Amino acid sequence: IVAMKNVVKSYGDIDVLKGISMDIMKGEVVCIIGPSGSGKSTLIRCINGLNDIQSGSITVEGQEVHDAKLDKRALRRKVGMVFQQYNLFPHKTALQNIMMAPVKVLKEPRAQVEARARALLKKVRLEGKENSYPGELSGGQQQRVAIARSLAMRPDIMLFDEVTAALDPETVKEVLVTIKELAADGMTCILVTHEMGFAKEVADKVYFTDRGLIVEEGHPSEIFTNPKDPRTRAFLSQVL
Ligand code: ATP
Ligand code: MG
Repeated sequence: IVAMKNVVKSYGDIDVLKGISMDIMKGEVVCIIGPSGSGKSTLIRCINGLNDIQSGSITVEGQEVHDAKLDKRALRRKVGMVFQQYNLFPHKTALQNIMMAPVKVLKEPRAQVEARARALLKKVRLEGKENSYPGELSGGQQQRVAIARSLAMRPDIMLFDEVTAALDPETVKEVLVTIKELAADGMTCILVTHEMGFAKEVADKVYFTDRGLIVEEGHPSEIFTNPKDPRTRAFLSQVL
């Protein structure tokens, strides 16, 4: 569903991605791990066209992302993204936050969008919080509203960039449960995460990146128990 071939991305003279290739199948859960500054955020932002690239190719469902003729808005509808900072609209309720894009961008009928938004809130286990404002919700609850808001656009692929990094330890788990349930429903999920337990349990594939390169990739059972590259070993010994 996503294919990257030899992707190079630079800022000025500095190559941040130095030839990244990955193949992600429909329904897979892929975790990207690696030290700070290794290019993880840059990499996933290339997938929905938020970052341009200098060379190589990225296709999503067979379409070249960096083709100038590609409709970027259509791409972003297909590829949802959730960030560490949830950026909900503070003066709108949970329900209104979720409904906004489908009503404004997709121009879908309000009643239909509202029914879907209510179902999504239930799915992320926030039934009863429809009329709460972001300020009245915990960080974990706000992050789940952000996930529901992204799902309201009916994406085929979801990108998550350290979505639990800013949360209290107690609320991390509820967000991970939501992602796990999404994955179980067959959503293709690509996550940058520091949650190694989650990666071990849920990922179909783990990529370890360092300084703009994929150093090692494989099933979590291989990467976590028998890392081959010394850099992977050093990283894991620090975080596990
Ligand atoms: P972290 O774990 O800290 O989030 P990361 O692996 O996500 O790190 P990136 O944010 O992708 O790393 O950054 C990779 C490199 O690119 C870093 O050296 C960073 O300084 C550089 N970089 C990122 N964004 C820009 C930008 N807009 N302009 C210039 N350099 C940038
Ligand atoms: Mg990052």
